Amino acid sequence: MTLRAGVVAVQGDVSEHADALRRASEEYGREAKVVEVRTEGTVPDCDLLVMPGGESTTISRLLRDEGIAEEIVAHVEAAKPLLATCAGLIVAATDAGDDRVETLGVADVTVERNAFGRQKDSFEAPLDVAGLDDPFPAVFIRAPVIADVGEGVEVLAEWNGRPVAVRDGPVVGTSFHPELTPDSRIHGLALFESELAERLPAPDQ
Ligand code: GLN
Repeated sequence: MTLRAGVVAVQGDVSEHADALRRASEEYGREAKVVEVRTEGTVPDCDLLVMPGGESTTISRLLRDEGIAEEIVAHVEAAKPLLATCAGLIVAATDAGDDRVETLGVADVTVERNAFGRQKDSFEAPLDVAGLDDPFPAVFIRAPVIADVGEGVEVLAEWNGRPVAVRDGPVVGTSFHPELTPDSRIHGLALFESELAERLPAPDQ
């Protein structure tokens, strides 16, 4: 069976995530059809979901306006995998420390927007990530830091002693942009390899 993998496409780096998803599904041996989520009614048919980076104030507003916000919450409540990156993580969080972001509260973390500085302070770093054998080339662009994690949230990676990747049940959140490197292991880890993914429909033999 082919999995439906939705990329939330109201704003942000959508095509990069769609490409990364295709690469990951190939590498992890799962057939996936990638669909873009722009309006209400697409998420309920998705097995997997990615919420890209971009501008969290804009993304959160559009998700509410389009009626997609509740659908993403229902997706996570149904224990289906969600990968939320950078601004996506800010929107997924419980608390973004900024009233202009209406968070979804699907990842029990508090984040601080732009904590790694401005656009010019963007950087790439080799990151040790729990579950990956070799460091992951993590690209940070005006990235949030995860300031606090709730009980039951697993910290998957830290940079300078601060969490930058977490797992909260079906949700994996990263401060960095895994879609901007050819390495698709974060997509694999979050969407195709998790225990939850094991419960997804098996690939056709
Ligand atoms: N700084 C952005 C925000 O707060 C996130 C940046 C990104 O997604 N690359 O929404």
